[in-house]
Amino acid sequence: MSSTTNRVSREEIKVILRAADELIAQGGRTLFAKILKGSKEKKVRELELDRCPAYGYFKSEKLEAVMQKIDWMVDYDFLDIEYSGKLPLIIYTDRGWLIESDQLTDELIEEWKEWIDKGKKEPDMIYLKDRNRQMILLMLEKIKESGDQAFIPYLKLWYEVEYIKMKAEIQKTIGALERKEPVDELAVQERKARITKALEGSAPQDLLIKCWSCGERFTFTVGEQQFYKQKGFALPKRCKDCRY
Ligand SMILES: [Zn+2]
Repeated sequence: MSSTTNRVSREEIKVILRAADELIAQGGRTLFAKILKGSKEKKVRELELDRCPAYGYFKSEKLEAVMQKIDWMVDYDFLDIEYSGKLPLIIYTDRGWLIESDQLTDELIEEWKEWIDKGKKEPDMIYLKDRNRQMILLMLEKIKESGDQAFIPYLKLWYEVEYIKMKAEIQKTIGALERKEPVDELAVQERKARITKALEGSAPQDLLIKCWSCGERFTFTVGEQQFYKQKGFALPKRCKDCRY
């Protein structure tokens, strides 16, 4: 499997993570590979997965090659597989979500800039409600850092549709823009450094596990880990001698 797969580039990691956002907890690696490949299959169209910005990014590659990239992403701790009954679903690891929430917030802010350029007056802000809270807070942080007061009217529209807790956060952002609060450059640099580090991934390693029965440590190899992950098994608690 992935031991033969080349390292996936940073650009590709980001694209794959972006595509995962459309699919999270809805499907497994085959459907996921089809989005990236740009499949015209009915299921892809029904779930509107063809509207994802990463749709068809790997259209010139074979489906099998795209699946290998996804496996690599799982091996290197960007994505994980979670079982819902017998159904394997793709989910983010903390590392994967850190990168995805960073690029997703950039994308959302870019969209606002386009709206401002086009003079869009009253966009419906309901689409930002009930999104991942940590992602929304990051978006507000970046809006604040932009120092761009042109965002204020949209923030006010957004404020109208939000819950009380988020209203307070939006209000803080509006206040910071109005007062032209200085940007915490150090925090910005630290965040960028965290993303760069996260993009390196974590190469799979053999694990040493202490056996529950005999107390000896045994090696749980990368290959075994991959097999267990695909089957949705938990880590073994006993060494091979004690297991049978
Ligand atoms: Zn044992």
